[in-house]
Amino acid sequence: MSATAATTFDSLREALRGRVVTPQDTDYDEVRSIYNAMIDRRPAAIARCAGAADVRTTLAFARETGIDLAVRGGGHSGPGLCLVDGGLTLDLSPMRWVRVDPETETAQVGGGAELADLDHETHAFGLGVPAGIMSTTGVGGLTLGGGHGHLTRAYGLTIDSLIAADVVLADGTLVTATDKEHPDLLWALRGGGGNFGVVTSFTFRLRPVHTVGVAVTVWPVDRTAEVLRWYREFLPAAPESLNGFFAVLTVPPGPPFPEPIHGQKMCAVIWCYTGDPEPGRLEDVLSVVNEPAPPAFHFTTPMPYPALQTLFDGLMPKGLQWYWRGDFFDGIPDDAVAVHERYAHTLPTPLDNAPLPRGRGRPPGRPRRHGLGLPGRRLVRRHRRHRPRPRQRRPHPPVVRRLLDRPAPALHGRLVRQLPRRVRGPRTRPLHLPGQLRPPDHDQTRLRPGQLLPRHPEHPPSAA
Ligand SMILES: Cc1cc2nc3c(=O)[nH]c(=O)nc-3n(C[C@H](O)[C@H](O)[C@H](O)COP(=O)(O)OP(=O)(O)OC[C@H]3O[C@@H](n4cnc5c(N)ncnc54)[C@H](O)[C@@H]3O)c2cc1C
Repeated sequence: MSATAATTFDSLREALRGRVVTPQDTDYDEVRSIYNAMIDRRPAAIARCAGAADVRTTLAFARETGIDLAVRGGGHSGPGLCLVDGGLTLDLSPMRWVRVDPETETAQVGGGAELADLDHETHAFGLGVPAGIMSTTGVGGLTLGGGHGHLTRAYGLTIDSLIAADVVLADGTLVTATDKEHPDLLWALRGGGGNFGVVTSFTFRLRPVHTVGVAVTVWPVDRTAEVLRWYREFLPAAPESLNGFFAVLTVPPGPPFPEPIHGQKMCAVIWCYTGDPEPGRLEDVLSVVNEPAPPAFHFTTPMPYPALQTLFDGLMPKGLQWYWRGDFFDGIPDDAVAVHERYAHTLPTPLDNAPLPRGRGRPPGRPRRHGLGLPGRRLVRRHRRHRPRPRQRRPHPPVVRRLLDRPAPALHGRLVRQLPRRVRGPRTRPLHLPGQLRPPDHDQTRLRPGQLLPRHPEHPPSAA
């Protein structure tokens, strides 16, 4: 139910420690804006929760008034699941605290924290959590969706490091889910998405990570098929301390890329190496990058992990219009290679479809130039000050397969149907929770008229 004219938020405003922002506030548009500018929803109010008490109060308000509710972490959800037209957004973004316990090598992270907050705090102790590849993504939505990034081959998905969560359930109860207490809830949170409750704090086991080897290899775009075929053989056989993201991209107009390839469409792999830090080791591991085709550019450097995490921030800034699709894949079959090859030349990129504003007219907060650059001097200096004490390396846990092999109790119907059959597993016991949050996003995922993009014929129907 949307807010009626009679719905006022005065009582909520009085009860919260955080602010309640409504269309009458001058910063309403700023507060409701999210990463994907394709989404333009107008909640009746945004409750900026400062802690678990505010979360409980906001949930109670939603229950009593029957208003639709959406939960916002870092605001990176592609279809804008964190906003609901005419409803109430429970905004966790004031809760960006992180507390590291170096003794137990764990970190407690506020429900609205972004990856930059987490990386900043853990890096000082030579520790980290495997998470996404952009520093502005929310820990909340990313973790609840599984979470993968540069450390995934070495340390697994983000949920492989999630050991506990404080959750306010729909009826206002605050529970801590661990593998001992409410283990089915913890299971559900590990990749089941939102709607099981509002997570006010995540507890992660930390992994040793400080300086990583970073490499970028770009090949001419017309070698996409050869590179992809090579990548699908090379990476699974490579040490798990090596991660590689394949992409077809437009080369950013800045260092470290040489000028002749600026702005050109290329295919690329961005590598992250957490293995032997001995100089030259990464170069050895990647000595084979010319096997598929001679690279147009190949670059390696040691880098503080948080610097790697910010590499794409400038290239993909908030405020552009995006459309993504994702799926689970076991491999890269020839058909997929052919599709990549066919579309490689025509893929739109931020540099193509949204000419970056320059000079005086640019909106505030937008960088003048977006580049994949080296870490800033400040970061490097900070990194040098905080060299970690030597520690023993731990064995690498297996990667994505752990998610697929995890025993699967049946979850809440709609969510479970979104998972591929192999993840769903046989229907066993239902998950009993004291109540589910209503799913406002159910009919909110459509794009606005004129923005609906046709489904690619190559995309198989979802596993629903
Ligand atoms: C530019 C970009 C880069 C990305 N890169 C990666 C990547 O490298 N790896 C990866 O795995 N994913 C990546 N993603 C996907 C991203 O993880 C998901 O979109 C995720 O949902 C974003 O989380 P958020 O908290 O920022 O989003 P929000 O839009 O704030 O939240 C999305 C949904 O998550 C739920 N949610 C969020 N926080 C909480 C909470 N504390 N308690 C309960 N529910 C909550 C809510 O249901 C909410 O509707 C990327 C997305 C973008 C836009």
